[in-house]
Amino acid sequence: MKLFHTDPGQDRSSTRHPLRLSFLIVFLSMLMTAVLLGFAQANQTVHAQTTESTVTSTPTNTPIPTRLPTGTATLTPTSETLNMDLFKALIRARILILIRAKILAALTPEATAPPESTATLSHTVAIPMVMNEALITPTVMVAATPTPTAIPPTIPTVAPAPLSPPIVPTPDGALRTAQIPILMYHYLSVPPDNADIYRRDLSVAPDLFAQHLDRLREEGYTTIRLDDLLLHLTEGAPLPARPVILTFDDGYRDNYTNAFPLLKERGMTATFFIVTDFIDLGLPDYLSWEMVREMHAGGMSIQSHGRNHASLKGRDDAYLIWQALGSLETIEHELGERPRFISYPAGQYDENTIRIFQSAHYWAGVTTVQGATHSSEDLFELRRVRIRGATSADELVRLLALDW
Ligand SMILES: [Zn+2]
Repeated sequence: MKLFHTDPGQDRSSTRHPLRLSFLIVFLSMLMTAVLLGFAQANQTVHAQTTESTVTSTPTNTPIPTRLPTGTATLTPTSETLNMDLFKALIRARILILIRAKILAALTPEATAPPESTATLSHTVAIPMVMNEALITPTVMVAATPTPTAIPPTIPTVAPAPLSPPIVPTPDGALRTAQIPILMYHYLSVPPDNADIYRRDLSVAPDLFAQHLDRLREEGYTTIRLDDLLLHLTEGAPLPARPVILTFDDGYRDNYTNAFPLLKERGMTATFFIVTDFIDLGLPDYLSWEMVREMHAGGMSIQSHGRNHASLKGRDDAYLIWQALGSLETIEHELGERPRFISYPAGQYDENTIRIFQSAHYWAGVTTVQGATHSSEDLFELRRVRIRGATSADELVRLLALDW
């Protein structure tokens, strides 16, 4: 019994010493692994911080889209450094495990070494698994980063409008004349109570304008564009039986609010001579580019009345080029269609005005000279019929019947 009691006890005491030693070694090795891994992680964070700072500073130099989330962008280089550091840490851990296993195998070859080694192995395997998550998360984010690059660049949206061909009509050289009334309107509204005599004279009330349009239709007139007249004079292009051209000078806002709807609902067209600087300045009494675009899209013709309504008479070439090309390019930019007609502001022009506007690829010009007969030899001196605030529908029909 005693032997029975003492023998196992002696056996245990004989094995207790190497077991304690092996536990101590395992504990120390685990501690070292933990320290090494901790060091590796610290390295990663340092790397991550440095790469982040360099990446966030780059957008000033490289054209990285602003919509690109910076958080995902920084992950790309960090994941590479993470990969390297983790690899190093893993190598260190593996070497440590091997050394530990060798020592344990030398001390206790029977039972203690294998379970310990598997325990440490499972432990070291568990760590890379956790680290692998850190590795996977950036790679998922990296896979997501190409999406912002797929966003189309926003810069080239202001594409220049394609230039129209220089001259569309091909004049056959034949001398032609045509009697086609070009009506000249200005304001299309009831003038304010404090309006002066000039404003009242230039203002046609919307109701009266509606009467004009209805009467024109009753009399069998068809509204045509200045382009139609030009093609008729230069090439002999056919025209409807009783053609009439409606023009509006100055580009007042009431042209959009009052004239445009009345024309549109009757399927009629008109030509609007606009002052481009007034629109650019956003003057409240004048049309906006949005309105002009809508009118243009609605079948109205938009042409030039100069940049700022200054007189084009007695001016030098540079000034006239500035007026001609400035207004032309602005309208073409806004509408995608080049204006071809000039209405001389206040009806003032001279031979030099015509020469410059002709060289700037304008096709014709309208004056304030009263009349309805036009010649293919005087395309830049087309006559018009002034419509006044007091012009009734009957008076309009009388004016249209005049031989002038
Ligand atoms: Zn004017």
